[in-house]
Amino acid sequence: MSELLSNFVQGRWQAGSGAGAALFDPVLGTELARVDATGLDLPAAFAHARDTGGAALRALTYAQRAELLGKIAAVLQAKRDDYYAISTANSGTVKKDTAVDVDGGIYTLSTYAKMGATLGDRRHLLDGDAARLGKDPLFQSQHVLLPTRGLALFINAFNFPSWGLWEKAAPALLSGVPVVIKPGTATAWLTQRMVKDVVDAGLVPAGAISIVCGSSAGLMDQLQPFDVLSFTGSADTATLIRQHPAVAQRSVRVNIEADSINSALLLPEAGSEAVDLLVKEVAREMTVKSGQKCTAIRRVFVPEAQYAQVAEAISARLAKTTVGNPRNESVRMGSLVSRAQLNAVRAGLAQLKDLTQVLHDGAQHTLVDAEPAVACCVGPTLLGTRDADAAALVHDMEVFGPVATLLPYRSAEHAVQLVRRGQGSLVASVYGADAAALASTALELASSHGRVHVISPDVAALHTGHGNVMPQSLHGGPGRAGGGEELGGLKALNFYHRRAAVQASTTVLAKLN
Ligand code: NAP
Repeated sequence: MSELLSNFVQGRWQAGSGAGAALFDPVLGTELARVDATGLDLPAAFAHARDTGGAALRALTYAQRAELLGKIAAVLQAKRDDYYAISTANSGTVKKDTAVDVDGGIYTLSTYAKMGATLGDRRHLLDGDAARLGKDPLFQSQHVLLPTRGLALFINAFNFPSWGLWEKAAPALLSGVPVVIKPGTATAWLTQRMVKDVVDAGLVPAGAISIVCGSSAGLMDQLQPFDVLSFTGSADTATLIRQHPAVAQRSVRVNIEADSINSALLLPEAGSEAVDLLVKEVAREMTVKSGQKCTAIRRVFVPEAQYAQVAEAISARLAKTTVGNPRNESVRMGSLVSRAQLNAVRAGLAQLKDLTQVLHDGAQHTLVDAEPAVACCVGPTLLGTRDADAAALVHDMEVFGPVATLLPYRSAEHAVQLVRRGQGSLVASVYGADAAALASTALELASSHGRVHVISPDVAALHTGHGNVMPQSLHGGPGRAGGGEELGGLKALNFYHRRAAVQASTTVLAKLN
Protein backbone atom coordinates (compact mmCIF):
# COMPACT_ATOMS: atom_id res chain seq x y z
CA MET A 1 0.00 0.00 0.00
CA SER A 2 1.16 3.54 -0.64
CA GLU A 3 2.29 5.94 2.09
CA LEU A 4 -0.47 7.45 4.26
CA LEU A 5 0.34 11.18 4.46
CA SER A 6 0.07 12.63 7.95
CA ASN A 7 -1.86 15.69 9.05
CA PHE A 8 -0.14 18.42 11.08
CA VAL A 9 -2.41 19.63 13.88
CA GLN A 10 -1.87 20.52 17.57
CA GLY A 11 1.84 20.80 16.79
CA ARG A 12 2.14 17.09 15.94
CA TRP A 13 2.10 14.94 12.81
CA GLN A 14 -0.92 12.69 13.13
CA ALA A 15 -2.09 9.94 10.80
CA GLY A 16 -5.80 9.46 10.19
CA SER A 17 -7.24 6.22 11.51
CA GLY A 18 -9.08 5.27 8.30
CA ALA A 19 -7.84 3.54 5.14
CA GLY A 20 -7.66 6.87 3.33
CA ALA A 21 -8.34 8.15 -0.18
CA ALA A 22 -5.74 7.28 -2.79
CA LEU A 23 -3.82 9.84 -4.90
CA PHE A 24 -2.81 8.67 -8.37
CA ASP A 25 -0.35 9.42 -11.14
CA PRO A 26 -2.83 10.52 -13.82
CA VAL A 27 -0.51 9.48 -16.66
CA LEU A 28 0.68 6.07 -15.46
CA GLY A 29 -2.35 5.23 -13.32
CA THR A 30 -0.22 4.16 -10.35
CA GLU A 31 -1.16 4.88 -6.74
CA LEU A 32 1.19 7.43 -5.13
CA ALA A 33 -0.02 8.13 -1.61
CA ARG A 34 -3.12 8.21 0.56
CA VAL A 35 -4.70 10.90 2.67
CA ASP A 36 -7.00 10.54 5.65
CA ALA A 37 -8.26 12.79 8.42
CA THR A 38 -10.43 10.29 10.30
CA GLY A 39 -10.21 10.50 14.07
CA LEU A 40 -8.45 13.86 14.38
CA ASP A 41 -9.51 15.93 17.39
CA LEU A 42 -10.64 18.91 15.31
CA PRO A 43 -11.89 21.07 18.21
CA ALA A 44 -8.48 20.75 19.90
CA ALA A 45 -6.67 21.28 16.58
CA PHE A 46 -8.54 24.51 15.86
CA ALA A 47 -8.17 25.75 19.45
CA HIS A 48 -4.39 25.18 19.29
CA ALA A 49 -4.11 27.13 16.04
CA ARG A 50 -6.39 29.93 17.22
CA ASP A 51 -4.91 30.34 20.70
CA THR A 52 -1.26 29.32 20.52
CA GLY A 53 -0.60 30.17 16.86
CA GLY A 54 -2.62 33.37 16.93
CA ALA A 55 -0.94 34.71 20.07
CA ALA A 56 2.55 33.94 18.76
CA LEU A 57 1.94 35.58 15.39
CA ARG A 58 0.29 38.66 16.87
CA ALA A 59 3.31 39.11 19.15
CA LEU A 60 5.46 39.62 16.05
CA THR A 61 5.50 42.92 14.14
CA TYR A 62 4.57 43.16 10.45
CA ALA A 63 8.28 43.46 9.60
CA GLN A 64 9.09 40.30 11.57
CA ARG A 65 6.25 38.39 9.90
CA ALA A 66 7.47 39.64 6.52
CA GLU A 67 10.91 38.27 7.37
CA LEU A 68 9.26 34.95 8.21
CA LEU A 69 7.63 34.85 4.75
CA GLY A 70 11.04 35.47 3.17
CA LYS A 71 12.50 32.53 5.13
CA ILE A 72 9.61 30.26 4.13
CA ALA A 73 10.22 31.20 0.48
CA ALA A 74 13.93 30.34 0.87
CA VAL A 75 13.14 26.90 2.37
CA LEU A 76 10.77 26.14 -0.52
CA GLN A 77 13.22 27.43 -3.11
CA ALA A 78 15.88 25.03 -1.81
CA LYS A 79 13.51 22.05 -2.22
CA ARG A 80 12.11 23.12 -5.56
CA ASP A 81 13.30 19.98 -7.41
CA ASP A 82 11.30 17.75 -5.02
CA TYR A 83 8.16 19.76 -5.74
CA TYR A 84 8.67 19.51 -9.49
CA ALA A 85 8.94 15.72 -9.16
CA ILE A 86 5.75 15.51 -7.07
CA SER A 87 3.90 17.75 -9.50
CA THR A 88 4.95 15.68 -12.52
CA ALA A 89 3.80 12.51 -10.79
CA ASN A 90 0.58 13.70 -9.15
CA SER A 91 -0.64 16.53 -11.39
CA GLY A 92 0.73 15.23 -14.71
CA THR A 93 2.20 18.63 -15.55
CA VAL A 94 5.09 19.52 -17.87
CA LYS A 95 7.83 21.69 -16.33
CA LYS A 96 6.53 25.03 -17.52
CA ASP A 97 3.10 24.25 -16.05
CA THR A 98 4.63 23.11 -12.76
CA ALA A 99 6.44 26.46 -12.67
CA VAL A 100 3.11 28.33 -12.70
CA ASP A 101 2.14 26.52 -9.50
CA VAL A 102 5.43 25.97 -7.65
CA ASP A 103 7.43 29.06 -8.67
CA GLY A 104 4.22 31.13 -8.68
CA GLY A 105 3.71 30.21 -5.02
CA ILE A 106 7.30 31.05 -4.06
CA TYR A 107 7.15 34.34 -5.99
CA THR A 108 3.93 35.33 -4.22
CA LEU A 109 5.52 34.64 -0.82
CA SER A 110 8.62 36.67 -1.74
CA THR A 111 6.48 39.54 -3.00
CA TYR A 112 4.53 39.68 0.27
CA ALA A 113 7.82 39.48 2.20
CA LYS A 114 8.96 42.65 0.39
CA MET A 115 5.64 44.48 0.66
CA GLY A 116 5.25 43.49 4.32
CA ALA A 117 8.66 44.89 5.23
CA THR A 118 7.36 48.36 4.34
CA LEU A 119 4.75 48.12 7.12
CA GLY A 120 7.51 48.30 9.71
CA ASP A 121 7.74 47.40 13.38
CA ARG A 122 4.12 47.72 14.35
CA ARG A 123 1.28 45.37 15.30
CA HIS A 124 -1.73 47.27 14.02
CA LEU A 125 -2.46 49.57 11.11
CA LEU A 126 -4.15 52.93 10.83
CA ASP A 127 -6.74 53.12 8.09
CA GLY A 128 -6.83 56.58 6.56
CA ASP A 129 -6.74 59.85 8.48
CA ALA A 130 -8.77 60.92 11.50
CA ALA A 131 -12.05 62.68 10.68
CA ARG A 132 -13.69 65.49 12.63
CA LEU A 133 -17.03 64.48 14.14
CA GLY A 134 -18.32 67.97 14.94
CA LYS A 135 -17.45 71.61 14.88
CA ASP A 136 -14.80 71.31 17.57
CA PRO A 137 -11.73 69.55 16.07
CA LEU A 138 -10.78 67.99 19.43
CA PHE A 139 -13.08 64.92 19.17
CA GLN A 140 -12.36 62.84 16.07
CA SER A 141 -12.73 59.35 14.61
CA GLN A 142 -9.78 57.22 13.48
CA HIS A 143 -10.18 53.83 11.81
CA VAL A 144 -7.77 51.12 12.94
CA LEU A 145 -7.07 47.64 11.55
CA LEU A 146 -6.25 44.77 13.92
CA PRO A 147 -5.48 41.15 12.99
CA THR A 148 -8.60 39.07 13.58
CA ARG A 149 -8.26 37.01 16.79
CA GLY A 150 -9.18 33.77 15.08
CA LEU A 151 -7.74 31.45 12.43
CA ALA A 152 -7.96 31.31 8.66
CA LEU A 153 -9.30 28.06 7.22
CA PHE A 154 -8.40 27.48 3.58
CA ILE A 155 -10.40 24.95 1.58
CA ASN A 156 -8.61 24.70 -1.74
CA ALA A 157 -9.11 23.34 -5.25
CA PHE A 158 -6.98 20.58 -6.77
CA ASN A 159 -5.47 22.62 -9.59
CA PHE A 160 -2.99 24.77 -7.63
CA PRO A 161 -1.63 22.71 -4.70
CA SER A 162 1.29 25.13 -4.20
CA TRP A 163 0.19 28.59 -5.39
CA GLY A 164 -3.30 28.03 -3.95
CA LEU A 165 -1.77 27.57 -0.49
CA TRP A 166 0.78 30.39 -0.56
CA GLU A 167 -1.34 33.06 -2.25
CA LYS A 168 -3.65 32.76 0.77
CA ALA A 169 -1.11 31.96 3.51
CA ALA A 170 1.25 34.84 2.64
CA PRO A 171 -1.24 37.66 3.41
CA ALA A 172 -2.75 35.71 6.35
CA LEU A 173 0.58 35.10 8.10
CA LEU A 174 1.70 38.65 7.33
CA SER A 175 -1.49 39.83 9.02
CA GLY A 176 -0.74 37.75 12.12
CA VAL A 177 -3.43 35.13 11.53
CA PRO A 178 -2.70 31.36 11.86
CA VAL A 179 -3.73 29.13 8.97
CA VAL A 180 -5.33 25.70 8.65
CA ILE A 181 -5.15 24.32 5.12
CA LYS A 182 -7.37 21.62 3.63
CA PRO A 183 -6.00 20.97 0.13
CA GLY A 184 -8.00 19.47 -2.76
CA THR A 185 -7.66 15.72 -2.25
CA ALA A 186 -6.51 14.67 -5.74
CA THR A 187 -3.24 16.66 -5.49
CA ALA A 188 -2.82 17.08 -1.70
CA TRP A 189 0.66 15.52 -1.71
CA LEU A 190 2.48 18.66 -2.87
CA THR A 191 0.72 20.90 -0.34
CA GLN A 192 1.43 18.41 2.45
CA ARG A 193 5.12 18.16 1.49
CA MET A 194 5.59 21.92 1.38
CA VAL A 195 3.98 22.35 4.80
CA LYS A 196 6.14 19.50 6.10
CA ASP A 197 9.34 21.15 4.84
CA VAL A 198 8.38 24.49 6.40
CA VAL A 199 7.44 22.86 9.73
CA ASP A 200 10.62 20.72 9.75
CA ALA A 201 12.71 23.84 9.15
CA GLY A 202 11.51 25.07 12.56
CA LEU A 203 10.64 28.48 11.18
CA VAL A 204 7.05 29.08 12.09
CA PRO A 205 5.73 29.55 15.64
CA ALA A 206 3.75 26.62 17.13
CA GLY A 207 0.18 26.61 15.84
CA ALA A 208 0.83 29.09 13.02
CA ILE A 209 0.32 26.53 10.27
CA SER A 210 -1.71 23.31 10.28
CA ILE A 211 -2.75 20.94 7.51
CA VAL A 212 -5.66 18.52 7.34
CA CYS A 213 -5.60 16.21 4.31
CA GLY A 214 -8.57 14.20 3.16
CA SER A 215 -12.23 14.78 3.84
CA SER A 216 -13.57 18.25 4.65
CA ALA A 217 -16.09 16.66 7.04
CA GLY A 218 -16.42 18.58 10.29
CA LEU A 219 -13.93 21.32 9.43
CA MET A 220 -16.45 24.12 8.98
CA ASP A 221 -18.29 23.08 12.15
CA GLN A 222 -15.25 24.26 14.12
CA LEU A 223 -15.38 27.83 12.86
CA GLN A 224 -16.00 30.59 15.40
CA PRO A 225 -17.07 34.20 14.81
CA PHE A 226 -13.55 35.67 14.51
CA ASP A 227 -12.26 32.94 12.20
CA VAL A 228 -12.24 33.51 8.45
CA LEU A 229 -12.74 31.02 5.64
CA SER A 230 -11.21 31.30 2.21
CA PHE A 231 -12.64 28.80 -0.28
CA THR A 232 -11.52 28.05 -3.82
CA GLY A 233 -13.42 25.53 -5.88
CA SER A 234 -16.56 24.88 -7.83
CA ALA A 235 -19.75 26.94 -7.72
CA ASP A 236 -21.66 23.90 -6.40
CA THR A 237 -19.44 23.50 -3.33
CA ALA A 238 -19.47 27.29 -2.86
CA THR A 239 -23.26 27.12 -2.51
CA LEU A 240 -22.92 24.58 0.31
CA ILE A 241 -20.27 26.74 2.01
CA ARG A 242 -22.53 29.80 1.97
CA GLN A 243 -25.36 27.83 3.60
CA HIS A 244 -23.21 26.38 6.39
CA PRO A 245 -24.26 27.56 9.90
CA ALA A 246 -20.76 28.98 10.53
CA VAL A 247 -21.35 31.45 7.70
CA ALA A 248 -25.12 31.81 7.91
CA GLN A 249 -25.37 32.06 11.73
CA ARG A 250 -21.95 32.82 13.21
CA SER A 251 -20.99 35.53 10.67
CA VAL A 252 -17.71 33.85 9.79
CA ARG A 253 -16.20 36.05 7.11
CA VAL A 254 -15.91 34.06 3.90
CA ASN A 255 -14.11 34.64 0.63
CA ILE A 256 -15.21 32.56 -2.34
CA GLU A 257 -13.24 32.02 -5.54
CA ALA A 258 -15.36 29.89 -7.83
CA ASP A 259 -15.51 28.96 -11.49
CA SER A 260 -15.61 31.56 -14.22
CA ILE A 261 -16.34 31.71 -17.95
CA ASN A 262 -13.49 34.09 -18.84
CA SER A 263 -13.23 35.88 -22.17
CA ALA A 264 -10.76 37.17 -24.73
CA LEU A 265 -12.04 40.01 -26.92
CA LEU A 266 -10.53 41.20 -30.19
CA LEU A 267 -11.66 44.79 -30.78
CA PRO A 268 -12.99 45.90 -34.20
CA GLU A 269 -10.23 47.04 -36.57
CA ALA A 270 -7.61 45.86 -34.12
CA GLY A 271 -4.86 45.37 -36.70
CA SER A 272 -2.88 42.28 -37.60
CA GLU A 273 -0.44 42.52 -34.69
CA ALA A 274 -3.34 42.46 -32.20
CA VAL A 275 -4.88 39.49 -34.03
CA ASP A 276 -1.60 37.60 -33.70
CA LEU A 277 -1.41 38.46 -30.01
CA LEU A 278 -4.94 37.16 -29.41
CA VAL A 279 -4.28 33.95 -31.33
CA LYS A 280 -1.08 33.29 -29.40
CA GLU A 281 -2.68 34.02 -26.02
CA VAL A 282 -5.77 31.89 -26.65
CA ALA A 283 -3.69 28.89 -27.72
CA ARG A 284 -1.41 29.36 -24.70
CA GLU A 285 -4.27 29.74 -22.24
CA MET A 286 -6.06 26.67 -23.58
CA THR A 287 -3.01 24.47 -23.12
CA VAL A 288 -1.25 25.75 -19.96
CA LYS A 289 -2.02 23.24 -17.19
CA SER A 290 -4.26 21.51 -19.74
CA GLY A 291 -6.77 24.32 -19.32
CA GLN A 292 -7.20 23.57 -15.59
CA LYS A 293 -6.89 27.20 -14.57
CA CYS A 294 -9.78 29.15 -13.08
CA THR A 295 -8.57 32.12 -15.15
CA ALA A 296 -8.25 30.28 -18.49
CA ILE A 297 -9.92 31.73 -21.58
CA ARG A 298 -13.19 29.89 -22.25
CA ARG A 299 -14.85 32.25 -24.75
CA VAL A 300 -13.12 34.10 -27.60
CA PHE A 301 -14.99 37.02 -29.18
CA VAL A 302 -13.99 38.34 -32.62
CA PRO A 303 -15.62 40.58 -35.27
CA GLU A 304 -17.82 38.51 -37.62
CA ALA A 305 -15.55 39.20 -40.59
CA GLN A 306 -12.52 37.73 -38.79
CA TYR A 307 -14.17 34.54 -37.49
CA ALA A 308 -12.76 32.21 -40.16
CA GLN A 309 -9.28 33.74 -40.12
CA VAL A 310 -8.96 33.50 -36.31
CA ALA A 311 -10.43 29.96 -36.26
CA GLU A 312 -7.76 28.84 -38.70
CA ALA A 313 -4.90 30.60 -36.90
CA ILE A 314 -5.76 29.23 -33.43
CA SER A 315 -6.32 25.75 -34.84
CA ALA A 316 -2.93 25.85 -36.57
CA ARG A 317 -1.23 26.64 -33.27
CA LEU A 318 -3.16 23.98 -31.35
CA ALA A 319 -2.26 21.37 -33.96
CA LYS A 320 1.41 21.80 -33.00
CA THR A 321 0.75 21.00 -29.32
CA THR A 322 2.26 17.65 -28.41
CA VAL A 323 0.21 15.95 -25.70
CA GLY A 324 1.16 13.09 -23.42
CA ASN A 325 3.58 11.98 -20.73
CA PRO A 326 5.16 15.09 -19.16
CA ARG A 327 8.41 13.16 -18.62
CA ASN A 328 9.00 13.15 -22.39
CA GLU A 329 10.87 16.35 -23.33
CA SER A 330 8.94 16.71 -26.60
CA VAL A 331 5.59 16.94 -24.77
CA ARG A 332 4.15 20.47 -24.39
CA MET A 333 0.91 19.57 -22.62
CA GLY A 334 0.58 16.91 -19.92
CA SER A 335 -2.59 15.43 -18.51
CA LEU A 336 -5.66 16.35 -16.51
CA VAL A 337 -5.25 15.64 -12.78
CA SER A 338 -7.52 12.64 -12.51
CA ARG A 339 -9.89 10.26 -14.22
CA ALA A 340 -12.79 12.10 -12.58
CA GLN A 341 -11.63 15.29 -14.32
CA LEU A 342 -11.15 13.48 -17.63
CA ASN A 343 -14.72 12.19 -17.42
CA ALA A 344 -16.04 15.64 -16.46
CA VAL A 345 -14.21 17.28 -19.40
CA ARG A 346 -15.48 14.67 -21.85
CA ALA A 347 -19.05 15.11 -20.59
CA GLY A 348 -18.87 18.93 -20.78
CA LEU A 349 -17.33 18.80 -24.23
CA ALA A 350 -20.12 16.53 -25.47
CA GLN A 351 -22.72 19.03 -24.23
CA LEU A 352 -21.00 22.00 -25.90
CA LYS A 353 -20.53 20.05 -29.14
CA ASP A 354 -24.32 19.82 -29.44
CA LEU A 355 -24.43 23.60 -29.86
CA THR A 356 -21.24 24.26 -31.77
CA GLN A 357 -18.95 23.11 -34.54
CA VAL A 358 -15.58 21.53 -33.81
CA LEU A 359 -12.92 23.84 -35.30
CA HIS A 360 -9.97 21.91 -33.93
CA ASP A 361 -10.51 18.42 -32.57
CA GLY A 362 -8.41 17.41 -29.57
CA ALA A 363 -9.20 13.77 -30.24
CA GLN A 364 -6.89 13.93 -33.29
CA HIS A 365 -3.80 14.33 -31.11
CA THR A 366 -1.85 11.10 -30.73
CA LEU A 367 -0.59 10.76 -27.19
CA VAL A 368 3.19 10.73 -26.78
CA ASP A 369 4.56 8.07 -24.42
CA ALA A 370 1.18 7.54 -22.81
CA GLU A 371 -1.34 4.74 -22.94
CA PRO A 372 -4.72 6.17 -24.09
CA ALA A 373 -6.67 3.71 -21.96
CA VAL A 374 -4.76 4.72 -18.81
CA ALA A 375 -3.54 8.31 -19.15
CA CYS A 376 -5.93 11.17 -18.34
CA CYS A 377 -4.61 13.15 -21.31
CA VAL A 378 -6.85 15.01 -23.72
CA GLY A 379 -5.90 17.15 -26.72
CA PRO A 380 -6.99 20.82 -26.98
CA THR A 381 -10.36 21.40 -28.64
CA LEU A 382 -11.51 24.67 -30.21
CA LEU A 383 -15.25 24.92 -30.72
CA GLY A 384 -17.14 27.66 -32.55
CA THR A 385 -20.57 28.86 -33.50
CA ARG A 386 -21.67 31.68 -35.78
CA ASP A 387 -24.65 32.40 -33.52
CA ALA A 388 -23.13 33.64 -30.27
CA ASP A 389 -26.50 34.72 -28.85
CA ALA A 390 -28.22 31.36 -29.18
CA ALA A 391 -25.52 29.19 -27.61
CA ALA A 392 -26.60 29.84 -24.00
CA LEU A 393 -24.60 27.01 -22.45
CA VAL A 394 -21.34 28.37 -23.89
CA HIS A 395 -21.76 31.44 -21.65
CA ASP A 396 -22.76 29.38 -18.65
CA MET A 397 -20.78 26.16 -18.43
CA GLU A 398 -17.13 25.85 -17.47
CA VAL A 399 -15.40 22.86 -19.04
CA PHE A 400 -12.32 22.65 -16.81
CA GLY A 401 -9.88 21.47 -19.48
CA PRO A 402 -8.23 22.52 -22.78
CA VAL A 403 -11.46 23.74 -24.35
CA ALA A 404 -12.55 27.16 -25.66
CA THR A 405 -15.28 28.45 -27.96
CA LEU A 406 -14.89 31.03 -30.73
CA LEU A 407 -17.83 33.44 -31.05
CA PRO A 408 -18.41 36.28 -33.55
CA TYR A 409 -19.97 39.64 -32.65
CA ARG A 410 -21.69 42.30 -34.77
CA SER A 411 -20.62 45.52 -33.01
CA ALA A 412 -18.56 46.69 -30.05
CA GLU A 413 -21.77 47.00 -27.96
CA HIS A 414 -22.80 43.47 -28.92
CA ALA A 415 -19.34 42.21 -27.90
CA VAL A 416 -19.53 43.74 -24.41
CA GLN A 417 -23.07 42.42 -23.99
CA LEU A 418 -21.90 38.89 -24.88
CA VAL A 419 -18.89 39.05 -22.54
CA ARG A 420 -21.21 40.09 -19.70
CA ARG A 421 -23.29 36.94 -20.23
CA GLY A 422 -20.60 35.21 -18.18
CA GLN A 423 -22.44 36.75 -15.17
CA GLY A 424 -19.22 37.98 -13.59
CA SER A 425 -15.77 36.58 -14.34
CA LEU A 426 -12.26 36.55 -12.95
CA VAL A 427 -10.61 38.03 -16.03
CA ALA A 428 -11.21 39.31 -19.54
CA SER A 429 -8.42 40.17 -21.96
CA VAL A 430 -8.88 42.79 -24.67
CA TYR A 431 -6.74 43.03 -27.82
CA GLY A 432 -6.38 46.09 -30.04
CA ALA A 433 -4.14 48.94 -31.10
CA ASP A 434 -6.28 52.01 -30.38
CA ALA A 435 -5.50 53.18 -26.82
CA ALA A 436 -8.79 55.10 -26.43
CA ALA A 437 -10.91 52.13 -27.57
CA LEU A 438 -8.93 49.77 -25.30
CA ALA A 439 -9.33 52.05 -22.29
CA SER A 440 -13.08 52.55 -22.75
CA THR A 441 -13.64 48.80 -23.26
CA ALA A 442 -11.59 48.08 -20.12
CA LEU A 443 -13.88 50.37 -18.13
CA GLU A 444 -16.99 48.81 -19.72
CA LEU A 445 -15.83 45.37 -18.55
CA ALA A 446 -14.32 46.33 -15.19
CA SER A 447 -17.57 46.22 -13.20
CA SER A 448 -18.20 42.58 -14.13
CA HIS A 449 -14.58 41.36 -13.84
CA GLY A 450 -11.93 41.20 -11.15
CA ARG A 451 -9.21 41.94 -13.69
CA VAL A 452 -9.10 43.31 -17.23
CA HIS A 453 -5.90 42.41 -19.09
CA VAL A 454 -5.34 44.82 -21.96
CA ILE A 455 -2.93 43.77 -24.70
CA SER A 456 -1.68 46.20 -27.33
CA PRO A 457 1.34 45.74 -29.59
CA ASP A 458 3.53 47.98 -27.38
CA VAL A 459 3.26 45.49 -24.47
CA ALA A 460 3.51 42.35 -26.62
CA ALA A 461 6.77 41.26 -25.02
CA LEU A 462 6.02 42.67 -21.57
CA HIS A 463 2.55 41.61 -20.54
CA THR A 464 2.22 39.01 -17.80
CA GLY A 465 -0.36 36.78 -19.51
CA HIS A 466 -4.17 36.63 -19.45
CA GLY A 467 -4.32 33.80 -16.93
CA ASN A 468 -1.32 34.55 -14.71
CA VAL A 469 -2.37 35.90 -11.35
CA MET A 470 0.14 38.47 -10.13
CA PRO A 471 0.27 39.23 -6.37
CA GLN A 472 0.21 42.96 -7.10
CA SER A 473 -3.18 42.71 -8.88
CA LEU A 474 -6.58 41.77 -7.58
CA HIS A 475 -7.67 38.15 -8.02
CA GLY A 476 -11.37 37.32 -7.76
CA GLY A 477 -14.50 38.29 -9.56
CA PRO A 478 -18.11 39.28 -8.97
CA GLY A 479 -21.21 37.14 -9.54
CA ARG A 480 -20.67 33.56 -10.56
CA ALA A 481 -16.89 33.94 -10.07
CA GLY A 482 -17.75 33.84 -6.36
CA GLY A 483 -17.66 37.50 -5.40
CA GLY A 484 -14.24 37.11 -3.78
CA GLU A 485 -11.20 39.36 -3.60
CA GLU A 486 -7.68 38.07 -3.03
CA LEU A 487 -4.18 39.51 -3.50
CA GLY A 488 -4.04 43.04 -4.95
CA GLY A 489 -0.88 43.81 -2.97
CA LEU A 490 -1.51 44.90 0.62
CA LYS A 491 -5.27 45.11 -0.04
CA ALA A 492 -5.27 41.36 0.69
CA LEU A 493 -4.58 42.11 4.36
CA ASN A 494 -8.06 43.60 4.80
CA PHE A 495 -9.68 40.16 4.81
CA TYR A 496 -7.54 39.08 7.78
CA HIS A 497 -8.01 42.27 9.80
CA ARG A 498 -10.94 43.76 11.69
CA ARG A 499 -11.62 47.43 11.13
CA ALA A 500 -12.88 49.56 14.01
CA ALA A 501 -13.40 53.26 14.51
CA VAL A 502 -11.85 54.76 17.62
CA GLN A 503 -13.63 57.99 18.59
CA ALA A 504 -11.59 60.05 21.02
CA SER A 505 -9.78 63.29 21.66
CA THR A 506 -6.98 64.05 19.21
CA THR A 507 -4.54 63.68 22.11
CA VAL A 508 -5.66 60.07 22.58
CA LEU A 509 -5.74 59.39 18.83
CA ALA A 510 -2.12 60.59 18.55
CA LYS A 511 -1.15 57.72 20.88
CA LEU A 512 -2.65 55.12 18.51
CA ASN A 513 0.39 55.33 16.26
P1 NAP B 1 -14.52 21.41 -5.58
O1 NAP B 1 -14.94 20.03 -5.92
O2 NAP B 1 -15.57 22.42 -5.30
O3 NAP B 1 -13.55 21.26 -4.32
C1 NAP B 1 -12.89 22.35 -3.75
C2 NAP B 1 -12.51 22.03 -2.31
O4 NAP B 1 -13.70 21.91 -1.53
C3 NAP B 1 -11.78 20.71 -2.16
O5 NAP B 1 -10.79 20.85 -1.16
C4 NAP B 1 -12.89 19.77 -1.71
O6 NAP B 1 -12.40 18.66 -1.02
C5 NAP B 1 -13.68 20.67 -0.82
N1 NAP B 1 -15.06 20.25 -0.60
C6 NAP B 1 -15.82 19.41 -1.34
N2 NAP B 1 -17.06 19.31 -0.81
C7 NAP B 1 -17.09 20.11 0.28
C8 NAP B 1 -18.07 20.43 1.26
N3 NAP B 1 -19.30 19.91 1.21
N4 NAP B 1 -17.74 21.29 2.25
C9 NAP B 1 -16.53 21.85 2.31
N5 NAP B 1 -15.53 21.57 1.42
C10 NAP B 1 -15.82 20.72 0.42
O7 NAP B 1 -13.59 22.04 -6.69
P2 NAP B 1 -12.37 21.35 -7.45
O8 NAP B 1 -12.96 20.35 -8.39
O9 NAP B 1 -11.33 20.90 -6.47
O10 NAP B 1 -11.74 22.58 -8.24
C11 NAP B 1 -12.10 22.94 -9.54
C12 NAP B 1 -12.94 24.19 -9.53
O11 NAP B 1 -12.28 25.21 -8.79
C13 NAP B 1 -13.15 24.76 -10.90
O12 NAP B 1 -14.51 25.05 -11.07
C14 NAP B 1 -12.35 26.05 -10.92
O13 NAP B 1 -12.86 27.05 -11.74
C15 NAP B 1 -12.36 26.45 -9.50
N6 NAP B 1 -11.20 27.27 -9.19
C16 NAP B 1 -11.38 28.60 -8.96
C17 NAP B 1 -10.30 29.39 -8.66
C18 NAP B 1 -10.46 30.85 -8.37
O14 NAP B 1 -9.53 31.46 -7.87
N7 NAP B 1 -11.59 31.45 -8.66
C19 NAP B 1 -9.02 28.84 -8.62
C20 NAP B 1 -8.87 27.49 -8.88
C21 NAP B 1 -9.98 26.71 -9.16
P3 NAP B 1 -12.06 17.29 -1.81
O15 NAP B 1 -10.99 17.60 -2.80
O16 NAP B 1 -11.61 16.39 -0.76
O17 NAP B 1 -13.36 16.88 -2.46
